[in-house]
Amino acid sequence: MAVDKSCTTPGVYMKSTVDIAIIGGGVIGSSVAYWLSISAPKSTRILVIERDPSYAFSSTALSAASIRMQFSNPINVAISKFGVAFIRDFQNIYGPENGPFDLGLKEDGYLFLAGTPAQSAILRQNNAIQRGQGADVSLLAPDEVQKRYPFLHIQDISLASLGMRGEGWFDNMGLLNGLKEINKRHNVSYLHDEVNAIKRSGQNIVSLKLTSGDTLNVGQVVNAAGPRANRIARMAGLDIPVEPRKRTTFILQCPTPPPANTPLIVDYTGVYVKPEGDFWMAATQPIDDPAVAFDDFEPRYQEFEEIIWPKLAARAKMFEELRVKRIWAGHYAYNTLDQNAIIGRHPELDNLYFANGFSGHGLQQAPAIGRGLAELMLTGSFQSLDLGQLGLDRILRGEPFLEHNVV
Ligand SMILES: Cc1cc2nc3c(=O)[nH]c(=O)nc-3n(C[C@H](O)[C@H](O)[C@H](O)COP(=O)(O)OP(=O)(O)OC[C@H]3O[C@@H](n4cnc5c(N)ncnc54)[C@H](O)[C@@H]3O)c2cc1C
Repeated sequence: MAVDKSCTTPGVYMKSTVDIAIIGGGVIGSSVAYWLSISAPKSTRILVIERDPSYAFSSTALSAASIRMQFSNPINVAISKFGVAFIRDFQNIYGPENGPFDLGLKEDGYLFLAGTPAQSAILRQNNAIQRGQGADVSLLAPDEVQKRYPFLHIQDISLASLGMRGEGWFDNMGLLNGLKEINKRHNVSYLHDEVNAIKRSGQNIVSLKLTSGDTLNVGQVVNAAGPRANRIARMAGLDIPVEPRKRTTFILQCPTPPPANTPLIVDYTGVYVKPEGDFWMAATQPIDDPAVAFDDFEPRYQEFEEIIWPKLAARAKMFEELRVKRIWAGHYAYNTLDQNAIIGRHPELDNLYFANGFSGHGLQQAPAIGRGLAELMLTGSFQSLDLGQLGLDRILRGEPFLEHNVV
């Protein structure tokens, strides 16, 4: 029975069959669906299953919504280069005839600050990798930083690295909603339901059991379940090193609004701050970073007083007077092996595809990952960009493919 695409409520897919079921309708699942919908034969039935269509607790919605070229390995730079091109071109992708759709990309860059000589050496090493991929990233001596950003205290800075183009922030939910709208036009169906069991037969998944009680027979399956990715893997009898790690975001009011062209500043201490309209957004890498429960979204309030505020006040006088306006906690889908995405198939299962473990940089990676996974599913190999280094082989061998520049 074909899926009735007008139905998005539980209870209507009894004994139905789809060609491709995507578990998770966040930015990754929706991007995979988008790329499949433009390349797969028109008759392909694509269904996205989403347990919470409000997305209130999804990583996509709770993200800092930024994109950068400043990674430590070439593939992540190439992935973000495609990401920024996609975001810039989104109006055309959405279709001008369908109305205006601006993702509000603001390309004010990331400014990474190094203190010690060892940190400077890492910035230089990363810069060579980034420039090797054609990224427009410049190393700045402390006096150049001071000239560009007179409000910063730079006495402890030995070097900085600034993205001149292709870095900044954009509308995260705009990207998700835009992809969903295009997908619906392309006859992709979204179902409000939750996958709670997976039935295997040998090397294949044959069906998904849903919380509504329905059973869905499937051809191919994509695990795009964000921080819950390993729950899905376990339902299929597998295991991936992905767990929810809490990140608390603070929206701050300062008597001085962000000066024009202020970048996202990543302090060498792990604290970062960026303009957020007339406000500022700040967060830090936590000192303790355990896995948390899937439904634990209690912010770590103390991070502001204990870590963020002292570092910001030391970095700029204006940050001495900050007021917290809003706080939320979200989950990174954290890859504990190497903080990089896990893309592709597991050798034990022929029809389950993974797009997981983005460890805090999955929003910007969604366009390239969606394209790559769709290519793998439809042709058997990556076509546009070789994502092989992000495959499951390294996970199974326990050999990390480390991303050192995790913010
Ligand atoms: C605080 C914070 C800041 C971040 N900042 C950035 C940034 O600046 N730049 C960047 O690129 N990335 C950033 N990220 C990471 C980025 O947000 C994520 O990598 C990206 O959104 C991952 O998208 P996703 O679709 O995999 O996950 P999600 O958005 O979490 O979507 C997964 C979906 O799967 C659904 N789901 C789960 N289990 C099931 C099931 N069993 N059945 C049905 N549905 C299910 C969930 O309800 C969810 O909606 C940040 C993340 C956080 C938390």
